[in-house]
Amino acid sequence: MRFTLATLALLTTALPALADEVNIYSHRQPELIQPLIDAFTAETGITVNVAFVDKGMAERLQAEGDRSPADLVLTVDIARLLQIIEAGVIQPVHSEVLTANIPAEYRDPQDQWFGLTARARIVYASKERVQPGEVTTYEDLASDKWKGRICTRSGMHDYNVALTSAILAHHDAAYTEGWLNGVKANLARKPDGGDRDQVKAIWAGECDIAVGNTYYMGEMVADGEQKAWADSVNVVFPEFEAGGTHMNISGVAMTKSAPNKDAALTFMEWLSSDAAQKIYAETNYEYPVKPGVAQSALVASWGTFTPDALGLADVAAKRAEALKLIETVDFDN
Ligand code: FE
Repeated sequence: MRFTLATLALLTTALPALADEVNIYSHRQPELIQPLIDAFTAETGITVNVAFVDKGMAERLQAEGDRSPADLVLTVDIARLLQIIEAGVIQPVHSEVLTANIPAEYRDPQDQWFGLTARARIVYASKERVQPGEVTTYEDLASDKWKGRICTRSGMHDYNVALTSAILAHHDAAYTEGWLNGVKANLARKPDGGDRDQVKAIWAGECDIAVGNTYYMGEMVADGEQKAWADSVNVVFPEFEAGGTHMNISGVAMTKSAPNKDAALTFMEWLSSDAAQKIYAETNYEYPVKPGVAQSALVASWGTFTPDALGLADVAAKRAEALKLIETVDFDN
């Protein structure tokens, strides 16, 4: 519904209860969220307040308990979504809109978390030193041909734990341990820094390929200094041997104590709409989860791929075991 300013003023004077609001604890950068909030408020008249919570989201919600002002949590990575769910501070949300807009592999079968954007964990390959077709599967990253040629961030980072969890979901523990040892043996240097630091290392000639999330390519292209790093690599979409590229999400969950439940649900559903999905696609170089919503032109230029058909819930279920294997092989040392 759209109001003119005059009718809105009239309505809010007559019915103060219309001044709905939603409170969000966000792990995502405020500048990523603001364009969405502005569009939502313009469309619905609902005010959205955001607190940027960098660390300790689950602990904070637990400590606040029923007194928490938060209605929704926005965060990246399935692991962080599961952390707040395991902390017991989230309630399920049953919504036909969310179920229709978000494919099953990107939401919780129990309706506790919903993916809003997707990112692929891909290979950045040196334009100079990696031949077309040389990068094939995730499994192949453990093969001898990559000896001394791979850079990656810490194996303990959520993004790599999720990738290892997916390997585990596709194979078994013995295979995964061998794979981790193989990749570790192929590293050009000890894991250090973030995904973009690995691309910088390719640019500097330290390694030939790096594992990283897709949206970092967009961020590097948009950055004065990092543009040269981006220009030195191709984006390659590996697949698992069984097919499909590893995906992760950013997502949303509703707190158990949500004081503004109705408005919060309205916002959640709106985030899965065409309008919101389009804004997500353009501002953070991520893949819309809603089928049919266009990717940004830059993202589309990296090419097409088939996402892993395995549900993220099934991948996440392997997390603890994957983490143990990463520790067992002492991946970072
Ligand atoms: Fe990231």
